[in-house]
Amino acid sequence: MTKDDKDKIRLSEEQLHKQKMQTQKERVDSQIAKNSIERGVAILMTGNGKGKTSSAFGMVFRALGYGQKVGIVQFIKGAQESGEVNFINDHCPNAVLYQMGTGFTWNTQDKAADIAASERTWEVAKEMLADDSYDLVVLDELTYMIGYKYLDRNAIVEAISKRPHEQSVVVTGRGGGRELREIMDTVSDVKNIKHGYKAGIKARRGVDC
Ligand code: ATP
Ligand code: MG
Repeated sequence: MTKDDKDKIRLSEEQLHKQKMQTQKERVDSQIAKNSIERGVAILMTGNGKGKTSSAFGMVFRALGYGQKVGIVQFIKGAQESGEVNFINDHCPNAVLYQMGTGFTWNTQDKAADIAASERTWEVAKEMLADDSYDLVVLDELTYMIGYKYLDRNAIVEAISKRPHEQSVVVTGRGGGRELREIMDTVSDVKNIKHGYKAGIKARRGVDC
């Protein structure tokens, strides 16, 4: 093949790429132009893979970056240290954090105490979901409270549905059920391909906790 032939192939590849990108840009621009609804969004991060809570905290830091007020309620958690909570406590005056603080239910092994703790925690979440001073509310690991039937699914669906117009909410955790999925605007299923934990790697500070 001569140098001229090679140049021709390269040029046609470049043209093809340009054409493809142009079509894609038109598609994206036209969707952006069509979207006109301005309101808070409800997001569910679910699935078996790693990345649900860390994604929720990604949105927390985005919101804080615009000076917004953020409420974070962590079900189950509180017994174990985490980098995100350390950071929120030390550097984020615009974030209000509440933790259930009982650890995993297989640790407490006390159903009545777990139910009481989850109800106390839900009261905090419910107040945030009714308070329009919060731009973003994160309900971390809430789905397990529904799965264990510690909290009433309908009450949760209602509080999320009736939250202030401009407020966004992020719910994390595996499962959660059809009713919850239906009222959320965005649902991401984080799929587990593999996890270092299964290969014997210990939970890593700054990565897993
Ligand atoms: P992360 O907090 O890292 O975003 P997550 O919220 O998606 O994880 P959880 O089910 O809440 O996942 O689990 C929290 C802890 O369990 C983290 O230490 C995380 O690395 C680990 N983990 C997450 N997914 C898996 C998995 N598929 N197998 C084993 N451990 C996992
Ligand atoms: Mg999580």
